[in-house]
Amino acid sequence: MDRRAAAWTDGPRIAELGEFGLIARIRKRTAGATPTPTVSRTVSSLRLGPGDDAALLSVPRGWDLVLTCDIQLEGHHFLRRSMSPREVGARAATVNLSDVAAMGGVPAAALVSLGLPLDLPVRAVDELCDGLMEVLARHGATLAGGNITAAGSLIVDVTLIGQVEEGKALRRSGARIGDTVFVTGWPGRAAAALATLDADEALWARLAADLGVPEAASLRERFRLHHAAPEARVAVGRFLVENQAASAAIDVSDGLGGDSRHLAEESGVRIVLEETFLPVDPDLAALAALLEVDPLRWVVGASDDYEMLFAAPRDRADLVLAMGTVLGAPVTPIGRVTEGAPGAMLQRRDGTRIELEAGWDHLSPDRGA
Ligand SMILES: [Mg+2]
Repeated sequence: MDRRAAAWTDGPRIAELGEFGLIARIRKRTAGATPTPTVSRTVSSLRLGPGDDAALLSVPRGWDLVLTCDIQLEGHHFLRRSMSPREVGARAATVNLSDVAAMGGVPAAALVSLGLPLDLPVRAVDELCDGLMEVLARHGATLAGGNITAAGSLIVDVTLIGQVEEGKALRRSGARIGDTVFVTGWPGRAAAALATLDADEALWARLAADLGVPEAASLRERFRLHHAAPEARVAVGRFLVENQAASAAIDVSDGLGGDSRHLAEESGVRIVLEETFLPVDPDLAALAALLEVDPLRWVVGASDDYEMLFAAPRDRADLVLAMGTVLGAPVTPIGRVTEGAPGAMLQRRDGTRIELEAGWDHLSPDRGA
């Protein structure tokens, strides 16, 4: 926590560098990053990068561009006390990469606008840029350009450009009756991380004892990282496109319940999730037991985990499960696509059914906190 705090408070401030000094510094710092794509193909190329009035990207025939943007605001999407500058930069890249992943796209180039308080340490901007560039490079994307302005609180606004084989993008609207619904990873972890952000030492000690974890501090860090350092499922999106394995997809940025509903409504179908099948992270289950709450409030409720939720025809189910092994990404069948009024419901173990809504659990902590 101390090292994290120091990067936000120590050293010279950006006001001392001035706008052009800071731009020169950022350009120098971000120039060396070399993309190392984790996806199988990168075909577009940046013809002209930062430094001119605008960037030039050449895109070959046969590909569609994938365009998305997502803004991260201090106090709403992140807090300085719970994230390092490096994590803020990395997460701003990840949430955009996740949207390109949900379309099955190959990330290509990013435009980044920063709103910076003048008393922000230069070191914080350095580390933020490092985190952003590291994640972009890991997924094969380059920095095409950017913009800075003074602002009352820290703002990181990323526009990401990707590409996907013409007509092959994963859409929300393709789910068909009879499809199986899958999710990657462990939805609800981000919500559990936010719920425990201000938990006291006593809770961590009890939870560590319940889980048999020797150090409460390492458990606390494990939880924190679920919100502070999510991973975009870019390789999953590419696998699904290259193998034509999915009929529809969405990334989980609202929560499993809300995003299932989005997928169902866009496809004009009914999605039924089975409680029995839902993957429940053991840490999360232990926390729920300790707090005597239903773990579903996190697993199905509001939680921005950036996992991939998708529908696949039944004859693709084996391929999807093999993907989990090949990519080292846990993937779980959690329900099915059926006839009925467009929407999503959860079939509980006790036989009851719950209609799933965006913001299904009103007791969840504010997502922005
Ligand atoms: Mg999305």
